[in-house]
Amino acid sequence: MRTGTAGGADLPLDVRRRGGRPSAPAVVVEAVLDALPSPTLLIDADGRVLLTNTAWEHAAELLDDDRVRVGVDGDYFAMAHRLVADEDTGNLIERLRALSRGECDSVQADYALEQRDGTRWYHLQASRVDQAGQVVVTHTDVTSRVRAERASDWRARHDTLTELPNRAHLHELIDAELARPGRGPVSVLFLDVDGFKEVNDSLGHEAGDDLLRQIAGRLTGSTRVGDTVGRLGGDEFVVLCRDCDTAGAEALADRCRAGVDRPFELAGRLVRLGVSIGIAGIGLAGADDADAPPVRSTDLVRDADLAMYAAKAAGRNRVRLFTADLRSAAQRRATVAAELREALHGDQLELHYQPVLHLPSDRCTGVEALVRWRHPERGLLPPADFLPSAAQHDLIGPLTRWVLRAAARQAAAWAADGLWLVTGVNVGAAYVAGGTLVDDVLAALGEAGLPPELLQVEVAESAVSADAEHAAAQLTALRLAGVEVALDDVGSGFSSLVELATVPAGVLTVDRSLVAVAAGRRRQAAAAIAAVVALGRVWGLRCQAEGVETADQLALVGELGCTLAQGFHIAAPMPAAEVPGWMAARRAHAAGGA
Ligand code: C2E
Ligand code: MG
Ligand code: MG
Repeated sequence: MRTGTAGGADLPLDVRRRGGRPSAPAVVVEAVLDALPSPTLLIDADGRVLLTNTAWEHAAELLDDDRVRVGVDGDYFAMAHRLVADEDTGNLIERLRALSRGECDSVQADYALEQRDGTRWYHLQASRVDQAGQVVVTHTDVTSRVRAERASDWRARHDTLTELPNRAHLHELIDAELARPGRGPVSVLFLDVDGFKEVNDSLGHEAGDDLLRQIAGRLTGSTRVGDTVGRLGGDEFVVLCRDCDTAGAEALADRCRAGVDRPFELAGRLVRLGVSIGIAGIGLAGADDADAPPVRSTDLVRDADLAMYAAKAAGRNRVRLFTADLRSAAQRRATVAAELREALHGDQLELHYQPVLHLPSDRCTGVEALVRWRHPERGLLPPADFLPSAAQHDLIGPLTRWVLRAAARQAAAWAADGLWLVTGVNVGAAYVAGGTLVDDVLAALGEAGLPPELLQVEVAESAVSADAEHAAAQLTALRLAGVEVALDDVGSGFSSLVELATVPAGVLTVDRSLVAVAAGRRRQAAAAIAAVVALGRVWGLRCQAEGVETADQLALVGELGCTLAQGFHIAAPMPAAEVPGWMAARRAHAAGGA
């Protein structure tokens, strides 16, 4: 503890000259200040140091920093000038003077000191102690608290796996760039890794994490110094390109694609992947229409996401620039989805049924349920007009459950009237991936009281290849429960035959694109159909030809070994009410012909 001269008896605290014997109250003050753990000084109204405590002396020794070397009789304000940032210093000294005059109760300020071993942070707190305007100033070292706060702040803004800026921080950075005065053009790249899920599923989550870190590194390596790479979550990344027009962004996208194109070493294996990239951008600040609302980061990222989605839909591993028509198409899909949600609760959806002919007996043994939407303004809509919107807006589950229940109820009602028809229901990839297939089918059967052998679940080739193992497990459970499974639209895609072979189906439908070929190309059509039928035979499946539009085609598919046929030549899909009449007429016609 050091004490100073400072006017002797006129100081109520009576702090006396160093070396002299302090009076009784001064001893108390010294003792109190000395007991404080924080470095503390007593100053007079002019900033002259009257007294320093032991913690202050220790801190000064420890820091060994000329900026904080002030002792008794020294000029505290001059030191404060060195400590606190320029623009704040005058302000701080003014506030301390005001405090000394009794115009306020306390003064607080924070400052940082750059040291050889890093920055240390201090909290300064000053209080007036007496009428003469003496002020006690403590300087608390808050370095560990600030460091902890900064670390948690950093963690809140970054993705723990890749250490890249996270979604929230990316939006902050993009918004800050958009608002920067005199900024150049800004582009945003939205990247989605093609095939990430497969790696995660087949090689495990650790390999998946490792892959994401490697991708983060490669993307960062592909960008320029001023660009920022961030991770939105999952396998989605965003690059913010500052001062970069769309041409520059396209060049960058190509570099990113090339970066991801090199094989990755994962769990001792080499894995090849692609990346789909969407680009959205905005020109120079102020160059846009002054009346247009300001562009926000959410707009840019959403536009880039739409472009990425289009790139993926066009066949993966591509780059696509955002255009306004992508936004209007997305808006249309969103409107359709909102209306469809209503339709599901109302009574706008209906099922039409298309007869299936058993060729050896020439009798209709089944029907396929096909969903329709009786739209209040647009009339009767085919599934192609609303299934894509449903898939994008999480409505496939509710829609498929509705179809399953309605079809099961209808089939049970026909059966009760003596009309036994195996009723086929289509289930798509998104629904199969949801994993509720078995529960939903069993619930629909139970509710309708329908025997399982009167229901057939049709899964498209594409639904199987999306996740063959998961699909096969669910379909096996269905067959064990007695429900027939059909592998639909075989020959329409490029699914792996090995994967298709794992599907425990009883029926295979030959895609209508193979059946409905021009009469002049009968030979080529025959070869393609024969190949699919042969495949079905090897797998032990009955084959059903779809899209039979002419007598000639019907004869051909029969000759080639299909046991079932369906198509406009036999009957078009029809409302449920027309089915019994059509069936009766067909039986009468067959009996008459026989
Ligand atoms: P799909 O399962 O292959 O159904 C057969 C489609 O072919 C039906 O079209 C049917 O009207 C049409 N079709 C039948 N015979 C002929 C023919 O001779 N020539 C031609 N050109 N076409 C014929 P629709 O009803 O428009 O259904 C299209 C697709 O929508 C269906 O193909 C199926 O994949 C899907 N779909 C239909 N209903 C549902 C449903 O309830 N749920 C799901 N997830 N998908 C459905
Ligand atoms: Mg079908
Ligand atoms: Mg089909």
